[in-house]
Amino acid sequence: MNEKIIFDADLTPLKDKVVSVIGYGNQGQAQAHILRENGIDVIIGNRRDEYWDRALRDGFKVYGIDEAIRRSQVALLLVPDEVAPDVYHKKIEPEIKKKEHFALDFASGYNIMYGFIRPQPNTDVILVAPRMIGKGILSLHRQGRGYPVLIGVAQDSSGKAWDYAKAIAKGIGAIGLPGGIAVKSSFEEETLLDLLTEHSWAPLLIAAMQAYFDVVTEEYGVSPEAAILELYASGELAEVARAMAELGLFEQMKLHSRTSQYGQFTRARKFYNMVKEIVKEEAAQIWSGEFAREWSLDQAFGRVVLQRLWKIMTSSRLAEAEDRLYRQLGRR
Ligand code: NDP
Repeated sequence: MNEKIIFDADLTPLKDKVVSVIGYGNQGQAQAHILRENGIDVIIGNRRDEYWDRALRDGFKVYGIDEAIRRSQVALLLVPDEVAPDVYHKKIEPEIKKKEHFALDFASGYNIMYGFIRPQPNTDVILVAPRMIGKGILSLHRQGRGYPVLIGVAQDSSGKAWDYAKAIAKGIGAIGLPGGIAVKSSFEEETLLDLLTEHSWAPLLIAAMQAYFDVVTEEYGVSPEAAILELYASGELAEVARAMAELGLFEQMKLHSRTSQYGQFTRARKFYNMVKEIVKEEAAQIWSGEFAREWSLDQAFGRVVLQRLWKIMTSSRLAEAEDRLYRQLGRR
């Protein structure tokens, strides 16, 4: 496969197959519905709990995870990344071992990149990673629109793994529709891009908002309500983000005043070198596996660091002021 960007694909590789969707959460529900609408024989694999009942209510055949793998030739593994290795080793791998061939699709590169899951040699290991939350996928699909996905192949046991990847991208409504695009990528690249968002500009935004709030309220006597409305509660930030997606980062700048353009561009230049160093350091920690080891360690100890951070963050002055304002606004 030479093309880097794919707008449409052939569904044939999935047509005569049973496709199991393992996990019926954010991505599982959205992807299962669209696959079914596209005429694919979809079954759900889940633990016997509320998601199981929900899938039944939605008219799917639902089985235990091992049974769903047994009944299918292709599976989309859509459980949270931190539980996927356990689910794979206990419920999926023993069934795949009994088969001649299997195709296993991931929506994130994490577990394959770091070797938490090492699939059997008889398995096509495929990545179809939506750049969109499950709700967004469904709502775009209802408007007849596609969405972006990164696709990749880590192991091509059948010689047809790329055809499966493209067919899954089409089957889950990403391509073949206006706005849809699949970019040829890899498990490593997807993991780097995904985690680097979470380790660079997203936390910098949170830190900048907290620092902004503390400075204007503590040192300039601004009311917490005015600060939070300015920061995010007004919805202006969401509108700017939408304009970035639709018009582009620079074209949307024309919607801002000249004073704003001048301020944003001069300060972006001023902060660039400092931020680039942060991004480089975080990218290196992702690429080397240092972050994955750090996070695995916290999970092994019952997520003590994550729980502690939730406590610290939600007892900050900003969080408390937000709670008061959002109650007044009837948002909670
Ligand atoms: P969810 O948290 O929504 O998954 C919930 C599903 O996983 C439920 O069916 C749940 O079943 C099952 N599950 C949870 N824990 C276990 C367990 N221990 N054993 C068996 N089943 C379990 O996941 P997402 O949809 O958010 O993520 C799925 C994949 O998609 C991940 O690889 C993620 O990185 C990727 N992705 C997610 C995006 C998103 O928007 N959330 C965007 C792009 C990719 P039960 O009721 O039994 O708990």
